[in-house]
Amino acid sequence: MPPYTLPDPLEHSRTPSHDDVFPYGKRNKTSSVPAVMPAGYSVPFTDDNYEVPVISNSRILDNVHHEQRTLINDNADDFIAILPFGGGQGWSDAYPNAAGAIRAFIDGIDLEDKGSWDLVPARPARARKDFWAAPWALFLTGCSTDLRNFLLYQAVFPLHEPGASFFALPLSDDPNWFWLKLTGDGVSEGKEVKKLEAMAALKRKIWSNKDVLKVVRAYQAKEPQSELAMKATSPQHAVVDLTKSFRIIYNPPDTHRGNNEHRYIILGRPMSQDKSEQAGVKSAVQGIKPFVSRSGRFFNVNKDTSGCIWCKSDLHVSQDCPYPDVGEGWCGPTREDLERLAQKARAWKGPRAEEGPQGEVRGTPEHPRGRGGRSPNRGRARGYPDQ
Ligand SMILES: [Zn+2]
Repeated sequence: MPPYTLPDPLEHSRTPSHDDVFPYGKRNKTSSVPAVMPAGYSVPFTDDNYEVPVISNSRILDNVHHEQRTLINDNADDFIAILPFGGGQGWSDAYPNAAGAIRAFIDGIDLEDKGSWDLVPARPARARKDFWAAPWALFLTGCSTDLRNFLLYQAVFPLHEPGASFFALPLSDDPNWFWLKLTGDGVSEGKEVKKLEAMAALKRKIWSNKDVLKVVRAYQAKEPQSELAMKATSPQHAVVDLTKSFRIIYNPPDTHRGNNEHRYIILGRPMSQDKSEQAGVKSAVQGIKPFVSRSGRFFNVNKDTSGCIWCKSDLHVSQDCPYPDVGEGWCGPTREDLERLAQKARAWKGPRAEEGPQGEVRGTPEHPRGRGGRSPNRGRARGYPDQ
């Protein structure tokens, strides 16, 4: 067999493969209508067609206490992630009534059999200072098949109560398509050709990276029946094929996060559906050192996604979040609401989680801590009535 010749990276970057399985941009209510639908709702929401954000299991379970994460990973079909719009470390501080409002909404769904459901807050593994830091979700457990099917079909629930709009997402195991982001002076708004030049430079680096080659070679040996191993004539060829589906998206500085960073987001089909195999190759690719493009511009490789703080999508920055633009009948937060909360988040000093008498961490959605001297009734503010 003749030795494998590397393709031209610029040509290789022009038409990404696997358009048919690109997971982003899918809309809610496009699967078949569940056999049993609710007869009505006691709490109104905007029932419309929306794009459903793509978030991998590992990101939903990021910074979730290991006991809780293990339980959910082992019983993924028994849980649904209830992801509040703008969820994160500061969410329960900003909206002490929101978790109760989500609970009341689910309670008011008119379905005959909802099971003995419960809404469980994520227990953080460790405190982080950032207002938007994970964990983001609440976990719905014990619900009936009918309730589960309806929530996942509808997926997007804009509610009037501040902070209570949410997404209902499965905790499936599929690895995300996010690979890395590029920052540095090479990243700027501009023509398609600049993005292609950056992608070509990145591919050149990935193709010649020894760590990436090693991981892919090991994968080929372990999974000889995989598409990647079957098609490739050599490990080098497999590494090139691995990057064939890579796409590059430009994101301007995120004004809601208050940063000045221009970013290219690199998305591509995961090498493997096995979480640890994918994590291994992703980590090798993320280990690429800073590099220059053909025109001499610098790029840094970053592994943090830092996508939209509201819906958590990788594809847009927070100020461009499409959800508040639905128009008439929109029950969710307005653009002004988002601006206000983003401002509040910038002044946030971090959660002051303290151990309560029963070892409960205060400041979680089930037990929002009192509002200090401003709270008229500190005791009452610390919990929601049972469902
Ligand atoms: Zn968004």
